[in-house]
Amino acid sequence: MEISQAERLKKLPPYLFAQIDRIKQDVKAQGVDIIDLGIGDPDQPTPAHIIEKLKQAAADAENHRYPSYEGMPAFRQAVAGWYKKRFGVALDPRDEVVSLIGSKEGIAHIPLAFVNPGERVLVPSPGYPVYKTSTMFAGGIPEILPLRGGNGFLPDFSKIPASVLRETRLMFLNYPNNPTAAVAEKSFFEEAVALAIKHGIIICHDCAYSEVAFDGCRPHSFLEVDGARDVCIEFHSLSKTYNMTGWRIGFAVGNRDIVGGLGKIKTNIDSGIFQAVQWAGVAALSGDQGCVETMRAMYQGRRDVLVSGLKSAGLDLAVPKATFYVWVNVPRGYTSSEFTMHLLRTAGIVTTPGSGFGEEGEGYIRIALTVDNERLKEAVERIKKVGF
Ligand SMILES: *Cc1c(COP(=O)(O)O)cnc(C)c1O
Repeated sequence: MEISQAERLKKLPPYLFAQIDRIKQDVKAQGVDIIDLGIGDPDQPTPAHIIEKLKQAAADAENHRYPSYEGMPAFRQAVAGWYKKRFGVALDPRDEVVSLIGSKEGIAHIPLAFVNPGERVLVPSPGYPVYKTSTMFAGGIPEILPLRGGNGFLPDFSKIPASVLRETRLMFLNYPNNPTAAVAEKSFFEEAVALAIKHGIIICHDCAYSEVAFDGCRPHSFLEVDGARDVCIEFHSLSKTYNMTGWRIGFAVGNRDIVGGLGKIKTNIDSGIFQAVQWAGVAALSGDQGCVETMRAMYQGRRDVLVSGLKSAGLDLAVPKATFYVWVNVPRGYTSSEFTMHLLRTAGIVTTPGSGFGEEGEGYIRIALTVDNERLKEAVERIKKVGF
């Protein structure tokens, strides 16, 4: 029998990263010592007190059974407590908080709850690829929201045609932003909420990097804005804040009907997060936040090393205020993927072409700060040596 994939799978854009991976393997096979600045995955271990809590909770038979899909009351309470402390926003843990098997899970499922086939979803470009694919899986039409350097990598809402706004159900936003590292002011969130209320659009704000910010910058939550609770769901993750990418734990908060709709999808698909991992999440959110401060200081130090090095190598870039990414202008004469390939083939450095995050990412590469200072210095030296 010939196995043929469903149309929704065939429609997916080609996966650019697979090609980079192939060439990476080739270069590696030639004996080159690869410096991988491609992946957005923290290189540091999860803080010890969180691991201890997991060990303890894993031994308790109470936690071996099916968890509730929406998260244990203790976890949702810890989320509400963290949110109040961090953003000054009060949440009802009963119906304004839902646990997620990593925030990616919630982002991938939300269009199924609110987007009918043929309805439009505003998707930032460049952006986290899941926004577009989850829209397509639900039968929605992704409508590109360009993020451009001239506007601080914020979308210009005045450029969206009225005809599009009429058919738009949902809008994804993400600040601090992956891949551009841009941070949004509260005034931008206010503008987005006003637009959403006017046109009946649900805002899905991806807040995965709210805690990875430098120079005293404290990114805002959407729910700090008046009216946001009527239109917004915000996705948070423990992955980047506590070096827990492998653990699969995150949460969404906000409007109870939106949170409830996502929960209804989840009851039909998954059975929640292993309770021992939820207890570890409680330890992370309610425990001493010194580990978060340490994480910030570490990335800020790396950022300073890389930014000054790349500038002295002659590359053009803005100093990121948040995230562990540096968004670098590609030098004249290269496309994003050509420059990525150049760095990989001649210098053994893996980066991510901006175009992999959508058409509007062309002209940039993304460099992740997920290796130590020595490796970052070595990367800069190699770039200086091979030139461009
Ligand atoms: C890492 C990342 C996520 C996913 O985080 P998980 O909670 O690990 O699923 C979501 N959005 C963006 C923009 C990210 O970079």
